Amino acid sequence: MSDDTALSRLRQLEAASAKIPVRDALAQPGRPGVSSIYIHIPFCSHKCHYCDFYSFVDSRDRQRAFTSRLIRELASLAPLAGPVQTIFVGGGTPSLLKAELWQELLASLQETYDLSPFLKGDGEFTVECNPESVSEELLGVLKSGGVNRISMGAQSFNPEHLKTLERLHNPASVPVAVELVRNAGIDRVSVDLIYAIPGQSLQDLEHDLRHALAMPIEHLSCYELTYEPNTAMTKRLGMGEFVRTPEELEIEMFELVGAMATQAGFERYEVSNYAKPGCECRHNLAYWKQDEWIAAGPSASAHIGGHRYKNVPRLESYLTGDDEGFAMIVDHEPPDPVRLVQEKLMTGLRLREGLDVDSLLENLNAANARRVRETATEFENLGQLERTEGRWKLTPSGVLLADGIAGSLLSVIA
Ligand code: SF4
Repeated sequence: MSDDTALSRLRQLEAASAKIPVRDALAQPGRPGVSSIYIHIPFCSHKCHYCDFYSFVDSRDRQRAFTSRLIRELASLAPLAGPVQTIFVGGGTPSLLKAELWQELLASLQETYDLSPFLKGDGEFTVECNPESVSEELLGVLKSGGVNRISMGAQSFNPEHLKTLERLHNPASVPVAVELVRNAGIDRVSVDLIYAIPGQSLQDLEHDLRHALAMPIEHLSCYELTYEPNTAMTKRLGMGEFVRTPEELEIEMFELVGAMATQAGFERYEVSNYAKPGCECRHNLAYWKQDEWIAAGPSASAHIGGHRYKNVPRLESYLTGDDEGFAMIVDHEPPDPVRLVQEKLMTGLRLREGLDVDSLLENLNAANARRVRETATEFENLGQLERTEGRWKLTPSGVLLADGIAGSLLSVIA
């Protein structure tokens, strides 16, 4: 697609606003209020080479304008919400937002939304942070505004591997940042790691895991490096600057993550996520179970009333496109029960708790449901999938093949 065609398509899509799916969802009788909110803050201090999130270095200091627009959008979305149980602020680097703007944002959430579950200790409010942009002042503001979980981007504790990723923090800053979080009285910390970085050995990964698991944390996300289209990392791979990690080593790495996390008292509850018992990320579970969530901020994706859409992924358009507070949207997909089954298969099968077979298949016609069951039986016979108490769950050998198995199951849906 030429740049002109792509731009004109984007303009066409932006002609729609989130008001349309929101009004449709609100018109559905007897619908419960949405209990999860995602907020996207797009600012970063540097663009990491593997990153395909909407994020950028803002040389024009638009944090104030962005925060005012975000508060307005959150107010327009508020009628959709019931008592809020989970909030996740991601990005970008939310810890780059100035403390006084955080104060305004947190105050507006408290005024506009029902946060009563938090008063009963039943709310989860996560903010993603980079180790070098957390400060005592910021953490104090977050804590007083109800934030009770920090997700810290560590990625690796090896300076050379961080350099390969163009992730420019000093690994020594991670434990210092985690200690600051603890001192601020924030209850929970999650750490993100990446494995299969070019040049990384099994011993290097063991070193990363040892450092991560030695910190006082309750949650670990450890994803294999993926080469997303249009990222600098993928271009460098194409130019032969480095080679991909061999598949056999990737498998050994995946197994090492599982073994070391388990030994440290963490349980795998999703293919790439581990938690101390009871410390699973409830917000991400809502995504993986395909529950509903409200989304605010440029490029934030929402799932409400069966509609799926994404806010326009461009700050300029987000700031100027304002339809009674609602953002302009792209990639809008109206409700579709078959798509919902496909999405549940892709994300639900990755969960330790698996998928409830009958409630999953009741949305398919008889022929499709039969084909999915037959395909599942093939994986059961291979020992990669099991059916227990009416749920499909991956076996230990199936966990390695989670995406392939889900892909095969959904490929037979006509
Ligand atoms: S800090 Fe996170 S969001 Fe920002 S560029 Fe790096 S990976 Fe992307």
